[in-house]
Amino acid sequence: HMKANQKDGFCIYMSDMRKKTWEYVHMSNQLRYAINNQEFQLYYQPQIDLSTDKIIGIEALIRWIHPEKGFISPMEFIPFAEETGYIGEIEEWVLKTACKQKKLWKENGYDDIKISINLSSKMLTQPNLVPNIRKILEMYYIKCGDIELEITETAVIDNLEKAIEVLHQLREFAITIALDDFGTGYSSLTYLQKLPIDILKVDRGFISNIDTEEEECYILKTVIDLAHNLGLKVVAEGIETKEQLDFLKRNGCDIGQGYYFSKPVPVEDIESLLKEKTQ
Ligand code: C2E
Ligand code: MG
Ligand code: MG
Ligand code: MG
Repeated sequence: HMKANQKDGFCIYMSDMRKKTWEYVHMSNQLRYAINNQEFQLYYQPQIDLSTDKIIGIEALIRWIHPEKGFISPMEFIPFAEETGYIGEIEEWVLKTACKQKKLWKENGYDDIKISINLSSKMLTQPNLVPNIRKILEMYYIKCGDIELEITETAVIDNLEKAIEVLHQLREFAITIALDDFGTGYSSLTYLQKLPIDILKVDRGFISNIDTEEEECYILKTVIDLAHNLGLKVVAEGIETKEQLDFLKRNGCDIGQGYYFSKPVPVEDIESLLKEKTQ
């Protein structure tokens, strides 16, 4: 409890309610400050084509480097940013920064690397999402097929019809759509069939089970086959061991991502990875 006032030997404590409100306002101010003062960074994690072992894409992952608290995980502040409405500005910064980087990589000779950006579920229903994204792509001369947006099922469940419409519009100008964290939420086979997507990212949970639980592996194998039957490519998230990689290769998984290849790294470190892993 937080001591608010002390008088005549009596202590008055702020109620939990007020404390929560105070924390909310405080955090909200900090986030506002972070946006204005560029406390965010993008880290990059390579995606590997499992048939050639080469980097074919890079996922951009946001980091908040708070001046006092240090590193704050996106899993902590993204939901808060969604709640407070700051998410729009943050996502715009992410898109611009990633596209600017993509342009630089292209100028340095890495033309075929796709960039993947996580799009908050709150963004899919924003009225100007499609023209805004289009404007940013034009600003950095990003051409068709260069960019992939990762969405989650929650985005879709909230408003299926609207989500389908927006995804169609995005794909019209050749943005690739990936369904992230597949297998964690209220995964429904109906969504898979209805959604205009290109890629299925199988959640890390399924991958980490490869070594121990055979049962899960049947599910994983089946998910890979199902995705292929629907014309989708499969990305395995969170590959950490050689055993997991071998299993995924044996079972026809198309693309892999995880600590086994590389952790997400700051921009300075990704170029050396690109140099060694694209030739
Ligand atoms: P995600 O999009 O599913 O990203 C994968 C997360 O798994 C990342 O965590 C990544 O660092 C981590 N990871 C990758 N390989 C491995 C591995 O081999 N083992 C383990 N244990 N973890 C691995 P991170 O960077 O903390 O991001 C967490 C989540 O925050 C992301 O999950 C995504 O949902 C969200 N996020 C990150 N950046 C953005 C952003 O720019 N916009 C939005 N809306 N969400 C973002
Ligand atoms: Mg992702
Ligand atoms: Mg994921
Ligand atoms: Mg995730």
